[in-house]
Amino acid sequence: MLQTGNSVIVLRKVGDIVVEQRPVPIIEDPHYVKIAIKATGICGSDIHYYRSGGIGKYILKAPMVLGHESSGQVVEVGSAVTRVKVGDRVAIEPGVPSRYSDETKEGRYNLCPHMAFAATPPIDGTLVKYYLSPEDFLVKLPEGVSYEEGACVEPLSVGVHSNKLAGVRFGSRVVVFGAGPVGLLTGAVARAFGASDVVFIDVFDNKLDRAKEFGATHTFNSSKFPADKTQELADEVEKLLSGHHADIVFECSGADACIDAGVKITKVGGTMVQIGMGKNYTNFPIAEVSGKEMKLIGCFRYSFGDYRDAVKLVASGKVNVKAMITHRFKFEDAAKAYDFNIAHGGEVVKTIIAGPE
Ligand code: ZN
Repeated sequence: MLQTGNSVIVLRKVGDIVVEQRPVPIIEDPHYVKIAIKATGICGSDIHYYRSGGIGKYILKAPMVLGHESSGQVVEVGSAVTRVKVGDRVAIEPGVPSRYSDETKEGRYNLCPHMAFAATPPIDGTLVKYYLSPEDFLVKLPEGVSYEEGACVEPLSVGVHSNKLAGVRFGSRVVVFGAGPVGLLTGAVARAFGASDVVFIDVFDNKLDRAKEFGATHTFNSSKFPADKTQELADEVEKLLSGHHADIVFECSGADACIDAGVKITKVGGTMVQIGMGKNYTNFPIAEVSGKEMKLIGCFRYSFGDYRDAVKLVASGKVNVKAMITHRFKFEDAAKAYDFNIAHGGEVVKTIIAGPE
């Protein structure tokens, strides 16, 4: 296949996205693979860099290629590659850790301080025509799984990781705060892992309606409960769970009141997983965490096996990621896609940008 120039979508600075032509990348490491990108999802993090130029300690200091939720087709392989071949359709795990860090050796490579993660400054992202990846960070897409679904494997892997951390199993009673993409997928994975109850809580009815396609057994609009009424909110959710507290709470909103209510809804000895990122400091009833001997655990991206399991969940039909895709744009219209996402935040769940033609 003739590989002409590499079209890339570059965030030059805050508010400035352009299409650029760059040289086609060359495979230097024999374990690397060249992929023609076919679909990329827009993530909240991309929007953050576009609007404000940074997330926490990651600051955009130089132009950066956007995108990290991608799938594509293998077009060339290095001389040592054995896991994939030219023509394979793959989901791309977009973060490559250092093989030398203690975190990687301990089996938690997602926490590696030397992680090179696509579209996290200064690392370029996947919104390109051709992308290089090591072979062991690719998962083949089975027949019947589309490139668009392959792009959704990235956020789905966060749902898989959080469910494994929480130990969701058959019969678990689960509450999910926030019905955005990650909340929806986390709840859907919980159901696929055997949860008997999955209560989604959000302040928008349109999001809660969608949650019904993502494993919700109950939905609850919390907008009428102000921040000082979190106990009342917890009491209402308890009624939905037939008088039980939740075994597991997934907090995917990052909102102070949800963190507070989440602790109150968790049962004695239960677990709350903090996935949403809001303010760095928050008030919540820590005495209740101790009094219940509950576990409060953090969750960051995904680690070994999560991408593979996410692909299996899609291929088996246990999670319908397609129900999340609300908008589609052509590669050349990527800048428009980002502007549309910002202008229509309430109606957009997941936008997919096609690969260049
Ligand atoms: Zn993402």
